[in-house]
Amino acid sequence: MNLSQVASSIPSSPTLVLNEEARKLRERGEAVIHLGIGEPKNKTPITAILSSAAKLCSGDVKYVPTDGTPSLKKAIVRYTEDNYDRIVSPQNIIVSDGAKQSLFNILFSLCNPQDEIIILAPFWVSYPEMIKMVGGIPVIITPEDGSFLPNFAEIEDAVGSYTKAIIINSPNNPSGMIYPEALVSKIVDLCERKGIYLICDDIYQKLVFDGNVAIPAYKYSQKDVEASKIIIVNGVAKLYGMTGFRVGWVVAPRKIVEVMTNVQSQTTTCVSPVMQAAAEGALTGLQSFVEALRLSIQNNRDILMQEMRSFTDVKCIKPAGTFYALPDFNAYCHNSVNRNSVELSNFLLKKALVVTVPGKEFGMEGHLRLSYAGTVKDIKEGIERMKWALDPNAPSEIYLGDRKMIRDWF
Ligand code: PMP
Repeated sequence: MNLSQVASSIPSSPTLVLNEEARKLRERGEAVIHLGIGEPKNKTPITAILSSAAKLCSGDVKYVPTDGTPSLKKAIVRYTEDNYDRIVSPQNIIVSDGAKQSLFNILFSLCNPQDEIIILAPFWVSYPEMIKMVGGIPVIITPEDGSFLPNFAEIEDAVGSYTKAIIINSPNNPSGMIYPEALVSKIVDLCERKGIYLICDDIYQKLVFDGNVAIPAYKYSQKDVEASKIIIVNGVAKLYGMTGFRVGWVVAPRKIVEVMTNVQSQTTTCVSPVMQAAAEGALTGLQSFVEALRLSIQNNRDILMQEMRSFTDVKCIKPAGTFYALPDFNAYCHNSVNRNSVELSNFLLKKALVVTVPGKEFGMEGHLRLSYAGTVKDIKEGIERMKWALDPNAPSEIYLGDRKMIRDWF
């Protein structure tokens, strides 16, 4: 078959493949524990349900403006003012089908063939593939010291005449790290000096722990939104655990929003007004919901850290935000059973029925991404199962929780 070379070269999202695999195993009655999942277990905020239900019940569900309904945009203007301390106008905003589409549309609107986009490892799996899809070249900067903290000098060195943008994601998926203020301010300054865009994927902005704050990049720019090189991506998926509603947005200079709107008008037309009503309901409803979600995830993070302590040869840096941790499993990644994180992750799925995501997908070989967005029971039992599967001296049959685990059951 003669298909597009670019499209054919794009693998499917590894996290979505894992979700599907876990779903099939569950369907077969297997007691799978999903530590790969990127969504909390909470119910949708009632204000989101009511406002989307009202829209649906009106029977008036038609095309709406490509860049978003005026009332949702108004709510985003307010959110931006409250959380970024920036006055923006509706013309600085475009709503898309999730932050994923927002990011793709930004990259499509910015990149000429061969333009380079700098991304910082560990990075979210979709960045490199999206960049390739729009004809750009991902330039990955990996900290040499094995930490999750990007080195500013290395970022600066990577900037060249083809550099179009840098993407930062803090709090970071997959490491849970919040970039220090000094780093963010230097990156803002670099982008302004060199005239390159800074794409801030702020999707985990409010999922921060222990009094930490993810300071927005705008704080380090004297420029107003129109003159700024900063492009903000945000959405309701992580903020309210509304992953299935598929509403994300971008705050950017008008010129960029105009181009993105034209692109979106030729592809998806608009986000469903029912889903936009849900996002508006969440943004304008009681915000104590966000704090409750944050606290429950922080509690899960503490439980995960506690459980990980008994893994003597696995180092786990305490996440300051998100619902992921990226422990270092190198001690289990380079042997005759598992030669890398992909094999280790497969091994854990087969032997322990625990879903993890290989660090390789995030540019951090030797690590596994564990999600603590699920239940406390799953976190505890998942880690216990992993320990059992990885311990060569453990009994070959054992009860963990209410399940009998058999070493060679697969
Ligand atoms: N950016 C990051 C870093 C993410 O982790 C995700 C979702 N996993 C997204 C963007 C996409 O979010 P949405 O569900 O709104 O498309």
